[in-house]
Amino acid sequence: MEKEIVIIGAGLTGLTLAFLLKQQGRSILLLEKETRTGGQIRTFREGGFCFESGPNTGVISCPEVAELFQQLAPNGDLLETAREESKRRLIWKGDRFEPLPSGLLSAIRTPLFSLRDKLRILGEPFRAGGVNPDETVGELTERRLGKSFLQYAVDPFLSGVYAGDPMKLVTRHALPKLYRLEQEYGSFIRGSLAKAKQPVTARDKLATKQVFSTCGGLESLIRALTKAVGEAQTETGARNIRIHPRNEKWEVRYETEAGTKSLEARYVITTVGAYALPALLPFLPDEELMPVSRLHYAPVMQVSAGFCSTGGVNYQAFGGLIPSCEKKRALGILFPSACFRERAPREGALFSFFLGGVKQAELLELDDEAIRKLVIGYCHEMLKIPDEITPDLIRIFRHPQAIPQYDKNSDDRLRAIRKIESRLPGLILAGNLRDGIGMADRIRQAVSIANQFINI
Ligand SMILES: Cc1cc2nc3c(=O)[nH]c(=O)nc-3n(C[C@H](O)[C@H](O)[C@H](O)COP(=O)(O)OP(=O)(O)OC[C@H]3O[C@@H](n4cnc5c(N)ncnc54)[C@H](O)[C@@H]3O)c2cc1C
Repeated sequence: MEKEIVIIGAGLTGLTLAFLLKQQGRSILLLEKETRTGGQIRTFREGGFCFESGPNTGVISCPEVAELFQQLAPNGDLLETAREESKRRLIWKGDRFEPLPSGLLSAIRTPLFSLRDKLRILGEPFRAGGVNPDETVGELTERRLGKSFLQYAVDPFLSGVYAGDPMKLVTRHALPKLYRLEQEYGSFIRGSLAKAKQPVTARDKLATKQVFSTCGGLESLIRALTKAVGEAQTETGARNIRIHPRNEKWEVRYETEAGTKSLEARYVITTVGAYALPALLPFLPDEELMPVSRLHYAPVMQVSAGFCSTGGVNYQAFGGLIPSCEKKRALGILFPSACFRERAPREGALFSFFLGGVKQAELLELDDEAIRKLVIGYCHEMLKIPDEITPDLIRIFRHPQAIPQYDKNSDDRLRAIRKIESRLPGLILAGNLRDGIGMADRIRQAVSIANQFINI
């Protein structure tokens, strides 16, 4: 068998790429080791609840996301944007969730930040720019905004996005837009004001920054992509895939229930986690691949807690994040039923707890009973659900290698990827080992790679 392009991994990146390349009329094969497509994205239904085991929401942060939905469902019945209330974000401080300020008055009044830092922020436009290209997000925030902004805004934000440590994530790689704001404009405030005044094209306007899911949960997006790629172009249950260079092409061997298969391809694009590359590419010397494969992934546990009734407690918000200085054993709690339709029975609510991350990796070792107790305790203590009400549903999902950490090794990793790709034409190392960790980043990367093929 011969294909022009073989894509390894049928998560969001691989599926989007396969969809776009198929649209170009390319001969493709999408290989996935599991018996299902979707990778980290998976939706479950039980007892009137609709819950996710991986990501709950994405952000329409770039036009590519909006365009993908337009192509997949021109009648608009796939995309579900979050209710207006989801703009409200909460941060835990002391014994309650406080709203994150959304305007000047609330910023002055909020108890989240110290008076000193609130006053210091007036001087932010005049503070000197950073000179260390490897400055961490934590160092940058403390330098420009002050410690309380680090503790009660940036630390919980990075827990929510990266399950990471602000003192280890390098701004240039983890939050490149923030890095560029300081480098290009000398200040976050001046940069944001200047950017707001810049002319935007009709395409730029597609990036609405709205929070999204898809109708019936994120797996609907996976189903739509899987259908569009087509069965003939997809092989699930492809185990022990091994890739070798052969006569300026690539030989791809793998095992299926039907036996060992082998095919030739002009291009191979991997979209798997960095840790999976050594087994896929056994011909690459360890030292050449090591700067890539050693990328650390934060472990994350997600626990869905569903209530048929919350005893009147009603959270109209996106969710609450928990600063690490508050010493709780959770990173944050999302409120999917407050954001999207049909996530919980009427009168009920669905909450999604995130635990673990780089700072509390050991929590993933707890047994299910200990996790149930922890989460039920937080439902009462943090969500203030009356003690006599217990969850009607608790489901626990462990992700030992969930979110890549773009730390100080990132330059070495990116250099190694470029070197491998230029030494071995036709091999492309994609996926979340570069170009961002969120769903929007994954879609944008797939579009960018697919576009490289247009003139080939
Ligand atoms: C708990 C959790 C919460 C998250 N929350 C959010 C969020 O709120 N918002 C957001 O935007 N993003 C979130 N993300 C990130 C988001 O899920 C990812 O960006 C996205 O789903 C990754 O897609 P991918 O295709 O790059 O990788 P994956 O989904 O990991 O897909 C890779 C695929 O490759 C397959 N594979 C691996 N090894 C092999 C092999 N050797 N051979 C063949 N196939 C292989 C895997 O089985 C998988 O299907 C979250 C992730 C997790 C884990």
